[in-house]
Amino acid sequence: MIGPERILLVEDDRALRQVIVTALQHGGYLPDAVPDGIQAAQRLRSEDFEVVLLDIGLPFVDGWEILAQLQGRHQPAVIVISARGEEGDKVRALDMGADDYLTKPFGADELLARVRAVLRRVHAASGAHHVVCCHDVTIDLGAHAVFRAGQEVRLSPTEWALLGLLAENAGTVLDHRTLLGRIWGPSYIGDRNYLRTFVQRLRRKLEADPANPTVIVTVGRHGYRFGPIPDRSMHS
Ligand code: CA
Repeated sequence: MIGPERILLVEDDRALRQVIVTALQHGGYLPDAVPDGIQAAQRLRSEDFEVVLLDIGLPFVDGWEILAQLQGRHQPAVIVISARGEEGDKVRALDMGADDYLTKPFGADELLARVRAVLRRVHAASGAHHVVCCHDVTIDLGAHAVFRAGQEVRLSPTEWALLGLLAENAGTVLDHRTLLGRIWGPSYIGDRNYLRTFVQRLRRKLEADPANPTVIVTVGRHGYRFGPIPDRSMHS
């Protein structure tokens, strides 16, 4: 790690803002905070952050709009923090490119655990230069780059983490619990909404026909596989 990670907090509640900033500082991060969507958009245009903690209910420009502006960018990772705990909002946030969703109120430990998990995915770029191909999709696991028909495809950190894990294990079925546990963490192994949403996101970006996927294949009721079944066994 080169230095403390920069985190932008977008939160209009002054007291909560202070609490979160203090928690992040104690966690060893470099937090910055803004109280509204206009300032958030300005900062995100001109500066680099590893993570954005994004409230949804904000003055002027709400969190959904910020999320829409960030969509398709590899960084920053986005954790939505919202008082709205409805499942529909959570799915919508994940669908719009958020990496995680945290319902208020939450404790400092929970917040720091989520930030650590998302940063692990941001930093998961390292690894050997190992290229995996399927149809017109080429994934360079080391360079953290994916191309479809020669065009680079932009993925969020969590999309990367999921695609990378599947591609590293190309031809092998990974079950839901393994994928949820490895990408999101042990407390998520029952939360299939995350997995389903992210698989759909990847399919929309990578598949010629997302309804009949051939790159990320659904295998029965238990899991997913990257690409076809290999016709000979490979030594790892
Ligand atoms: Ca708010």
